[in-house]
Amino acid sequence: MLTIKIEEIPDEGLNLEWVEEKDSISTYLKNFSNIDFEFESPMKSKMKIVKAGKSLLLKGDVVATLRLQCGRCLKEFSYPISTHFDLNFYSIKDFSFPEELELSEEDMEMNFYEGGEIHLSEIAFEQVFLEIPYKPLCHEDCKGLCPFCGQDLNLSSCDCIKESFNSSFSILKKLIKS
Ligand SMILES: [Zn+2]
Ligand SMILES: [Zn+2]
Repeated sequence: MLTIKIEEIPDEGLNLEWVEEKDSISTYLKNFSNIDFEFESPMKSKMKIVKAGKSLLLKGDVVATLRLQCGRCLKEFSYPISTHFDLNFYSIKDFSFPEELELSEEDMEMNFYEGGEIHLSEIAFEQVFLEIPYKPLCHEDCKGLCPFCGQDLNLSSCDCIKESFNSSFSILKKLIKS
């Protein structure tokens, strides 16, 4: 896990490139209780950090492949992520919030660091997390599981829907006859 002391960043900036191996990733993910996915690959990060007045500009790319579970058919699948980001960080200590706090949309996107250091691996993880869809799908047109028998409808169809349609249709017929 890469952390940099702000005072160690030279005036010309810092270019970093590093890999977070799967072991250290799974150790890190244990800090979260709500993680229901795994990394299938190491996480590769590239960042450029530049001091700009009181803020830090951080530009970078993160690449990783995750193993997600499809929200429809529950199958696990590979989900490659490649994300670019451009962030501004302020020291929480230096930052004085205006008394009447009216945050513009730009302010809402401000990030903070604490204690004179910035946790670069954590930032990289955050960027990966942001790329995970709310309801991951193995394919856009995944047919999911049959709600009646649980058959994976991507592999073969079942007769449940037809049968339940027929039975409601026969009830309807009876109703009409009576
Ligand atoms: Zn699926
Ligand atoms: Zn079925």
